Amino acid sequence: MLGATGSIGQSTLDIIARHPDRYALYALTANNNHQKMLQLCRQFTPRFAVMRDVESAQLLQQAIQDLPTEVLAGETALDEVAAAEGVDVVVAAIVGAVGLMPTLAAVRAGKRVLLANKEALVMAGALFMDEVLRYGAELLPVDSEHNAIFQCLPPGSISKSVTEKGVRKIILTGSGGPFRDIDAESLEDVTPEQACAHPNWDMGPKISVDSATMMNKGLELIEACWMFAVDQDDVDILLHRQSIVHSMVAYNDGSVIAQMGNPDMRTPIANALAWPDRIESGVEPLNLLQVSQLDFTLADEERYPCLKLAREAWNQGGTSMTVLNAANEIAVEHFLSRQIKFTEIPRLITKVMEQSTTEPADELDSIMQADFNARELARQLVELRT
Ligand code: NAD
Ligand code: MG
Repeated sequence: MLGATGSIGQSTLDIIARHPDRYALYALTANNNHQKMLQLCRQFTPRFAVMRDVESAQLLQQAIQDLPTEVLAGETALDEVAAAEGVDVVVAAIVGAVGLMPTLAAVRAGKRVLLANKEALVMAGALFMDEVLRYGAELLPVDSEHNAIFQCLPPGSISKSVTEKGVRKIILTGSGGPFRDIDAESLEDVTPEQACAHPNWDMGPKISVDSATMMNKGLELIEACWMFAVDQDDVDILLHRQSIVHSMVAYNDGSVIAQMGNPDMRTPIANALAWPDRIESGVEPLNLLQVSQLDFTLADEERYPCLKLAREAWNQGGTSMTVLNAANEIAVEHFLSRQIKFTEIPRLITKVMEQSTTEPADELDSIMQADFNARELARQLVELRT
């Protein structure tokens, strides 16, 4: 479980706790939240607990001496547990580009990889999908939209061009985030707290801000293109405020298949964990009478410029998506620490994209270099404006 202390980590562990006969935890990993990790180790006694931060690992070590769990530290330890023999399933739920290497380690070890860490696929899509095929890894989407699409497609559709299977369109749905009803001028002054208060989902801070700017939907568009081998104009984006229809697939015979459920990440996680079986997830049954109405409207790319930026990055190809992702991570970080305004997020990403060159993205080195350069440039641009 990569990213055990986060929101996806919590939801995953909740399911695992319901099925002790089915799942045993090999390793839990986190960045530096040793207190939370201590609590998880007491509850689940995994074989290994990995803290990326060395000092946090030492603090954890001192606190769990009475447990059989072994504490490891550092980035290589993340890669090692993700690739360890005897591990069947790796849940990739670290947030951001830092999740790429351990997720790739799992892919290269041919694991069943449950992908929540969309940034890894966005920044290195071509290489990532190549390696999934080369190493025979089984990629399963945890992102609720992609899991929905996966459930609506014929079996064996990951990384196969689904347009050849009679698919006319993939329809990604999004709630529109916490600011969907605010007029565009007021967006200037929204706070990180407001951005993180999502109406339908309870998530980590980074993806919450991404949902508010709708960069999340932009990243998901790219995620869908890589995962289901389609082009960006094969994917429509619809705003759906109830978050009940998690996405749809339209076929050329006129059929549209949708996956529905309450907005609770335990559904897609349980689906991917148990696939092709179905297991109890603790999610409340959907009461359609209570929901009563499902609305769909067009996502306005003027109001949500991040959507347009994501489409542009996909069209440019190569390292443009690495740059988009890196610039967004830096912009979100600076918004969360109140150094830039909400409306500056897309402006900063636009500038970084304009000032970056696009390189081929089939080598890890060029991807990491593009990621590094875009972060540096984004930081410089933030400093220049203050
Ligand atoms: P979160 O912030 O709640 O948790 C992030 C996890 O990553 C934590 O366990 C943290 O310790 C770990 N982490 C952070 N930096 C790290 C580093 N440098 N090295 C090692 N570990 C590190 O985030 P989240 O909301 O759980 O999201 C995780 C991923 O899942 C993101 O990519 C997000 O886009 C995706 N996702 C989340 C949701 C959701 O509902 N939360 C839904 C769909 C997709
Ligand atoms: Mg999603």
